[in-house]
Amino acid sequence: MHESEHAVVIAGGGPAGMMLAAELALAQVDVVMVERRPDHVLVGSRAGGFHARTLEVLDMRGVVDRFLAEGQTAQASMLGSTILDMSDFPTRHPYSLGIWQNQIERIMSEWLGELPARILYDREVTGFAQDDDGVTVQLSDGASLRAQYLVGCDGGRSLIRKQAGIDFPGLDATRSNLIAEVELTEEPPPGVRHDEIGVHGLNRLEDGRTFRVIVTERELGVGSEPSLRDLSAALIDVFGTDFGAHSPTWVSRFTDATRQAATYRAGRVLLAGDSAHIHYPAGGQGLSLGVQDAVNLGWKLALVVGGAAPDTLLDTYHAERHPVGARALEHTIVQAALQRRDARMAPLVDLVSAFGEMDEPRRKVVGTISALDIHYDLGEGHPLLGRRMPDLDLGDGRRVFDLLHDARPVLLDLGGLGNADVTGWADRVPVVAARYDGVWELPVLGVVRAPSAVLVRPDGYVAWVGEGSADGLTDALATWFGAAA
Ligand SMILES: Cc1cc2nc3c(=O)[nH]c(=O)nc-3n(C[C@H](O)[C@H](O)[C@H](O)COP(=O)(O)OP(=O)(O)OC[C@H]3O[C@@H](n4cnc5c(N)ncnc54)[C@H](O)[C@@H]3O)c2cc1C
Repeated sequence: MHESEHAVVIAGGGPAGMMLAAELALAQVDVVMVERRPDHVLVGSRAGGFHARTLEVLDMRGVVDRFLAEGQTAQASMLGSTILDMSDFPTRHPYSLGIWQNQIERIMSEWLGELPARILYDREVTGFAQDDDGVTVQLSDGASLRAQYLVGCDGGRSLIRKQAGIDFPGLDATRSNLIAEVELTEEPPPGVRHDEIGVHGLNRLEDGRTFRVIVTERELGVGSEPSLRDLSAALIDVFGTDFGAHSPTWVSRFTDATRQAATYRAGRVLLAGDSAHIHYPAGGQGLSLGVQDAVNLGWKLALVVGGAAPDTLLDTYHAERHPVGARALEHTIVQAALQRRDARMAPLVDLVSAFGEMDEPRRKVVGTISALDIHYDLGEGHPLLGRRMPDLDLGDGRRVFDLLHDARPVLLDLGGLGNADVTGWADRVPVVAARYDGVWELPVLGVVRAPSAVLVRPDGYVAWVGEGSADGLTDALATWFGAAA
């Protein structure tokens, strides 16, 4: 069988893999994504949506409207029983978006179809071997691919992570839930029930016939392919009836096992999405985390395989995304604990919920859930450094996110770049002169002093801030985009 050569091979075409493939294709990288499913149809609805920073990321690429058109915006961040309203957050998307993962994956695959990414469906990555020059990737049809880098976006049971020998430390499962799409012969109670076992709910889906059922099991269940009988038993245990559940199209199990890859990079192999972190879905963090992993990694990989930047740039992927993942995992542990409402937990839930009604705790927790408060450690300096660039309305009718559609960086000259010589990076870093006279307000932090220039990375984070001079600019350009040409 022949071996074809590519810059990057992605194992797995879920949300993280597709986002990474799109990022690399936008950067004109020769990328192949291998997906074991025959197409992008996802059996079952799975995740229920994503939060504000993911909406911003999709907005930066000019595709957010496709998702907004099919979903429903809502204030969906919770602390205990309190809904945390974020409508006052300084973002164009001060809400979460309710949209099922099977819709998300369809929209993403349609977008990917418009980009120059190759996708091999119906094939699995079965193994790989890396050497000094690249990675040889074995496929289930006997073919092999050769690439400079392999990225495992192959989900929580990641073969790539295991074969790379990357540890996956964390907490074993203590709680399991069954999730299913079934028809019912009896009308279930509306809403969500919390009790001493955990959280349960039966909600009618858009087709009017099928119900999405989530029920916490009294005893920890094992295996990812439970049966209708398991579902009925769990429902009877909680509700005293299974509501006549029948004709399942999907029955699955998830747990509160919480683990994170010890490293997101082992030589020429990297991990993104659930392959790098698993956790209980309370708080709806997983899909968003994976999409944002991909957006952090994509442009770095593009610069490295293109020869513009040294491969040490890839180490910043772990350095930046591992702490963000660790924080999200901690948050899901809190959210999972608050779902249980027995006599000992209820007072704690009430107390924590009351904090959610206070302004400062509300802003802090929403900052975490929405991921709008992410602060990559890029050293001391202006509060914008390492934080997300706000989507400002620039004087010429454009907004900042318009400048990021091609996944390229931008050096925004707001009148203070002076005579800095950046010609050595002209091939990689466009300079845009613009005006902005408004307030600079960051989520959670509040108003910050206006800079005179900013260097924005392709992932929308600020790599350098000018305050009346170009001090440090060429160092920042070299750090993030390679040496001057
Ligand atoms: C009930 C539930 C509710 C959730 N709700 C939310 C929510 O509201 N918000 C949120 O952000 N997240 C939520 N999540 C989490 C979210 O579903 C996952 O975090 C997300 O799917 C991870 O995306 P991924 O691309 O990393 O992995 P996956 O979606 O698991 O994709 C991995 C892909 O790799 C493929 N694959 C695996 N092995 C191979 C191989 N060897 N070769 C080729 N292909 C392979 C698989 O077929 C799959 O398509 C929820 C999860 C559950 C279970």
